[in-house]
Amino acid sequence: MAFLKFEDIDKSFGENNVISKFNLEVEKGKFIVLLGPSGCGKSTLLRMIAGLEKIDNGKILLEDNLLNDLLPSKRQIAMVFQSYALYPHMNVFQNISFGLKSEKISKNQIKDKVIEASKILKIEELLDRRPKELSGGQRQRVAIGRAITRNPKLFLFDEPLSNLDAALRSEMRVEISKLHKRLKSNIVYVTHDQIEAMTLADKIVIMNKGKIEQFGSPEDIYNNPNNIFVAEFIGNPKMNILKIQKENILNKNTFKLFNQEIKFENVNFENGLYVGIRPEDISFENKSEIVLQISIDLVENLGSEKIIYTYLNNEEFRIKSSKNVKDKKITIYLPKNKLYLFDNNKKRLKT
Ligand code: ADP
Ligand code: MG
Repeated sequence: MAFLKFEDIDKSFGENNVISKFNLEVEKGKFIVLLGPSGCGKSTLLRMIAGLEKIDNGKILLEDNLLNDLLPSKRQIAMVFQSYALYPHMNVFQNISFGLKSEKISKNQIKDKVIEASKILKIEELLDRRPKELSGGQRQRVAIGRAITRNPKLFLFDEPLSNLDAALRSEMRVEISKLHKRLKSNIVYVTHDQIEAMTLADKIVIMNKGKIEQFGSPEDIYNNPNNIFVAEFIGNPKMNILKIQKENILNKNTFKLFNQEIKFENVNFENGLYVGIRPEDISFENKSEIVLQISIDLVENLGSEKIIYTYLNNEEFRIKSSKNVKDKKITIYLPKNKLYLFDNNKKRLKT
């Protein structure tokens, strides 16, 4: 039995079809990240799970129970928003315990739950403060605390770290990851940030225009992208993609790249070919099959790493290296086994 299941979900706002034929099955105890560009329908999907948005067609099931017509309060789901959604006139204790008042539990039990959550989140000292007396990171912890005390079957997070500065964001990322391991909770987490997705997720759903481009573990998505959209979306700087011109496709499995003939067994790219290579797979000293002389346009120094920018076929081409480069012209090597091939529909060709 799938823990959470989406069956043929459709959702439109007027003429705008936001989610179409969305199907997904999620196992129990997993940290699932919905990753995709802004406007692709991530929040809409999350809001449909929570019951804050009507589902046009299809079913959402939680442990085989149909959620569609259940009131949000009956779904045993807690949602944490980007905006924190705290009550400004209440202190931290009151904010965390807010959802518990409607449940039939004693004042002492409420107190125990709030204290337990505040210990987990390291905000015990802040229980008397109002939201305006807290930093962004502390407010986010309060919002998470409120979700934890409700002991939900499923946590939903909608870009919870987007309003935090970079240092705090990575700190909270680690906290959320620890929380998941500790509580063994079921989480669906929305973000447009690939680093959050890669570091937090057991499984990532890559979304584009309301559809799933790929569903898999972070490693799988990085190593085996289904198509150019996924390949370019995961990895920083993004994968280099070179379109191979017709005259350079010599036959169904041989093409020419910078005047070097490259052959793959068991593929057919007669109808068109794109070749991808990740910036981190390119080398200066480990000699490999494909050799190239390039002129450096710009070097971005990130401390331990440098990003080298050049142009190939009038397209920006990126190389990631830990080595310093001093010359303007350098030789680079592209290992054949690190090339990704895509057909004319931008779908991955297995090699
Ligand atoms: P994401 O969270 O991936 O950035 P959203 O789910 O918020 O995307 O939005 C997906 C699309 O649906 C966008 O085009 C957005 O403008 C539209 N949309 C979202 N909510 C509403 C709404 N309440 N009314 C009309 N259009 C909406
Ligand atoms: Mg959103």
